[in-house]
Amino acid sequence: MSAAEEKVDVIVSGAGASGLAAAIALARAGYSVLCAGVSDTRPTGRTVALFEGSIRTLRALGVWERFAEIGQPIRAIRIIDDTGSRFPVPPLTLRAEEIALDALGTNVENDRLIAGLIAEAQALPGIQLTEAKLDSIAFTCDAVRVRGADGQTISAPLIVAADGRRSPARTAAGIAARSWSYPQTALIALTTHSRPHDGFSTEFHTRGGPCTLVPLRATEASPHRSSLVWLMSTAEFERRSSLDDVALAAELTVQTRGRVGDIRLETARGAFPMGGLHVNRLAAARIALVGEAAHAFPPLAAQGLNLSLRDIAQLVATLGTKTQTRDIGAATLLASYERARRRDVALRTHGVDVLSRSLLTDFAPVDVARGIGATALRMVGPLRRAVLREGILPPGPVLPLPARA
Ligand SMILES: Cc1cc2nc3c(=O)[nH]c(=O)nc-3n(C[C@H](O)[C@H](O)[C@H](O)COP(=O)(O)OP(=O)(O)OC[C@H]3O[C@@H](n4cnc5c(N)ncnc54)[C@H](O)[C@@H]3O)c2cc1C
Repeated sequence: MSAAEEKVDVIVSGAGASGLAAAIALARAGYSVLCAGVSDTRPTGRTVALFEGSIRTLRALGVWERFAEIGQPIRAIRIIDDTGSRFPVPPLTLRAEEIALDALGTNVENDRLIAGLIAEAQALPGIQLTEAKLDSIAFTCDAVRVRGADGQTISAPLIVAADGRRSPARTAAGIAARSWSYPQTALIALTTHSRPHDGFSTEFHTRGGPCTLVPLRATEASPHRSSLVWLMSTAEFERRSSLDDVALAAELTVQTRGRVGDIRLETARGAFPMGGLHVNRLAAARIALVGEAAHAFPPLAAQGLNLSLRDIAQLVATLGTKTQTRDIGAATLLASYERARRRDVALRTHGVDVLSRSLLTDFAPVDVARGIGATALRMVGPLRRAVLREGILPPGPVLPLPARA
């Protein structure tokens, strides 16, 4: 930030995937943007499956070309019940061609996604990126004024809170949030294996949570690769933490029933304790919440960032392209953003919560209900396609941006 107080159209608090994508979308709509926060570009063994709806948004923003070559298309999702329930759930495969797509989405390594978004943001003249975290955020009736850790102040008619689950911007605006935890930890790593994944993402639903292998693009060193997201009870996580990589990979090969052959860990393991977050408002005067500042849940069915990109598309659709006359921080305008996003956010947060808890319990009626649901999806094509469309390409706003090649 420069020495004198500056004014911009929008301050984005947070420079994770949501903050960077929001900054790019707002700049493309003609707004001047300050995006503040530290981005994590370390290779962490984490990936993100971006579904077709997100790919279309990123394409409209002109950034998809950066990821198309490094991501691995996901052609199908296969779900295998491994709960040992007395009411077995039949295997289910959801294929892209059922909804007339070549792929359901693309799996991209997180660090490469963030690096690509940073490169795009740096190339756009409307965006100032600063690594200074925001120390103070104060609201008046016609502006929000922030002070960075470097002591500079800057004001704008609107702040976009994209600063994660503990969102300082959300707290400063007095928006209440409720968070909860699940008795689970996700163990993650990139893996290599002896047999091809054939573009399949495979989820083994266990009593500890799903163990998912999401296909990754081949490298020269490893022709067959997948990213692992393995949810397990805290006790199992502690036990597996004491295993060396070879022993852990052997357990993983057994858990995945040898579907991709023998598995080896390609990276160090990471761990994420599982939790959820619900906010009582998605916007108020001078502030709009996007990404994990607005919602959080466990990584089941890969919904998190996909949902965040729909927040961003809706926000820009609500604000429209820059005009000199419109107050983009006005409570009435932002209330329409909130109304447009409420259903989608509630559906994903509660849907993932129900799915998570239904796996953790061995209460017979819940197992029966899961079995009936999976059987119906297997047998009834129109239902299966409707569910697939809702997960992969739900109806959403069209970005008010010029079409890009
Ligand atoms: C194991 C795992 C697998 C996942 N897989 C998928 C998937 O396949 N598909 C999918 O769609 N989603 C997936 N997700 C979810 C997805 O990764 C998250 O939804 C997404 O990363 C959230 O990004 P965010 O930018 O909203 O939040 P964050 O990544 O938490 O970023 C918040 C940012 O705010 C910054 N910040 C904090 N305080 C301040 C401050 N005072 N001032 C300025 N900046 C601040 C932080 O430095 C950080 O950069 C997965 C999640 C996990 C854990």
